[in-house]
Amino acid sequence: MHQARLTVALTFDHDALSDSVRRGDAPVKFSHGEFGPRVGVPRILELLGREEIPATWFVPGHTLATFPESIQAILAGGHELAVHGWYHEDFSLLLADEQRAILDRAVAAIRDVSGAAPRGHRAPYWALGPDTLGLVEAAGFAYDSSLMSDDYRLFRVRHGDRHSTEDGTTFGTEGRLVQVPIYWGLDDWPIFEPAPGRDGLAAPSRVLEIWEGELRYGWEHAAGGLLTITMHPECIGRGHRMAMLERFIAACRALPGVVFERLDTYVDRWMAAGGSSG
Ligand SMILES: [Zn+2]
Repeated sequence: MHQARLTVALTFDHDALSDSVRRGDAPVKFSHGEFGPRVGVPRILELLGREEIPATWFVPGHTLATFPESIQAILAGGHELAVHGWYHEDFSLLLADEQRAILDRAVAAIRDVSGAAPRGHRAPYWALGPDTLGLVEAAGFAYDSSLMSDDYRLFRVRHGDRHSTEDGTTFGTEGRLVQVPIYWGLDDWPIFEPAPGRDGLAAPSRVLEIWEGELRYGWEHAAGGLLTITMHPECIGRGHRMAMLERFIAACRALPGVVFERLDTYVDRWMAAGGSSG
């Protein structure tokens, strides 16, 4: 379906202040988020421009409204905007009507700024309620990027799975929504950012080893597949991590047949080829 041996998608969750506003965080936490639009995004856009890499940006509505220059710079770079909540909500804690309202508001905000409806959705924290992806599909999205049940292969999201300690598991049926799988090991945040229960602040060599391992394995074993990397400007934008991202891009370039694409581009090609995992 695709002459590329492996496609790499660099994706950025542009959370900025959204989560801190909702939580009512202290000033230092806000300042950590502000590093994203203030320092991280310009650095990332300079690198992507220099390398001629189109990328996908999942942007909460609060970031769209608060940092319009950052969003305009992303659009000017030829990148894709996709939905990531409004105040970085945890959808697993919300009622269906609340989730629907956030999705509708976020879609409208991206349409206003870009002139087109977003194609993609990623749940903040990758947190989903049992009904969330059904609501995402009903809202008209082409794809979601919040599940881990595959790695290099897209698949159609199944709705209506039932799990019971009495009756076991009954699987639901596949819908139209395409899934772009993700994983914690391919996310900058869990290894680099301190949090309760983990140290964070890992040496970038540790992350580079994981990402290069996934790259090499996909290149060898998943021809035509997609490797999706999740990053956050306030995290990857630090100098030592930007240097690592440059090394990762160089490792991709060193393998024949590796290309970089926006998620919507890859998803469209996958659907045009019949929507199978081939
Ligand atoms: Zn996020």
